[in-house]
Amino acid sequence: MQKKYDAVIIGAGPAGVSCAIWLKQFGFGPLLLEASDRVGGLSARNPFFDLWTPTAAGQTGIDIARGMASQLEASGAEVWLNSPVKQVVKGAETDRESHARSKHGSQFIISVWHHDQLIDIQAHTVVIATGVKARPLNAGQYESWPGVLIGPGEKIVQQDFTGLNVALLGGGDNAFENYEYIKSRGARQAHIYARSVRAQKQFVARVPLSDVFVGPYLVEPNAKIVNGHAYDLIIVLYGWEAQATFVAPLALKYHANGFIATDHDTAQTSQPGVYAIGEVAQRMHPCVVTAFADGVVAAKAIQAQLTD
Ligand SMILES: Cc1cc2nc3c(=O)[nH]c(=O)nc-3n(C[C@H](O)[C@H](O)[C@H](O)COP(=O)(O)OP(=O)(O)OC[C@H]3O[C@@H](n4cnc5c(N)ncnc54)[C@H](O)[C@@H]3O)c2cc1C
Repeated sequence: MQKKYDAVIIGAGPAGVSCAIWLKQFGFGPLLLEASDRVGGLSARNPFFDLWTPTAAGQTGIDIARGMASQLEASGAEVWLNSPVKQVVKGAETDRESHARSKHGSQFIISVWHHDQLIDIQAHTVVIATGVKARPLNAGQYESWPGVLIGPGEKIVQQDFTGLNVALLGGGDNAFENYEYIKSRGARQAHIYARSVRAQKQFVARVPLSDVFVGPYLVEPNAKIVNGHAYDLIIVLYGWEAQATFVAPLALKYHANGFIATDHDTAQTSQPGVYAIGEVAQRMHPCVVTAFADGVVAAKAIQAQLTD
């Protein structure tokens, strides 16, 4: 008979890793599924020093991700890397007998790519911890153009900015922080285009007013032109959106801002037995520490659900 996991956690970023470790410590058998080849989520792709996590003096995001991976390994929780989840459906209708026999039943079926095969896994509970993806230039359209970078992180670090004219699109912290970064990496000119400025004051104060254009603007991505001004490179920093299309069959409730709605105390979604933590639900200010905390909230709620 196929194994049924107490919890299948989808996404091995800080939220999912924390949830897996806590569930394992509570004596449960969680399975952590990760689409990429490494543990750590966005942290694993952050080569900068983390100045915000109290235990991370002198560590980069990549160092923190390594720490998560070794603590996860020490916990003994089962982890499958290179295993993107394709779909999650309710299993009760297809598993009525088992449901009647077991108090908690086999609630969910998770279809996941594993070793090039699509396989189904059963679980009593599901935790969505798949974070966010960078918002595209045109809402809902994931096109790509040469010379147009979407989102912060690795791609920007790998880019040679020497002598380039760069347009940064967006009015949040990322646009202003990256302005400083690319200027320090030899960009000849950098301009920020923001429909409105939402960045923290200390970041805004460090950028000359003459390089910031506030108000509506027109982008021609093929020609790399913004408001009639030609650039060598355009960087789109429009923030983030939840990535969880694989749970569409569960018809979860979402907030108006596009993030999964959850119960404040338990992180449970509108579907009983399904939890959403970290940036995919944006329950708190998004960062490593709040993602860790959210993992604990879901683990405690699952412990209560499976032992009541
Ligand atoms: C450049 C950069 C720098 C940052 N610096 C800091 C910092 O210094 N300090 C700080 O506190 N925060 C920082 N952050 C934010 C922090 O990294 C995030 O808030 C945190 O990683 C969110 O954790 P999460 O677990 O919710 O999601 P994520 O870290 O995004 O993890 C989600 C995981 O889910 C996986 N996944 C997605 N879809 C699937 C699927 N279908 N199947 C299986 N797995 C899937 C992804 O591969 C990923 O590993 C930074 C972010 C960036 C981009």
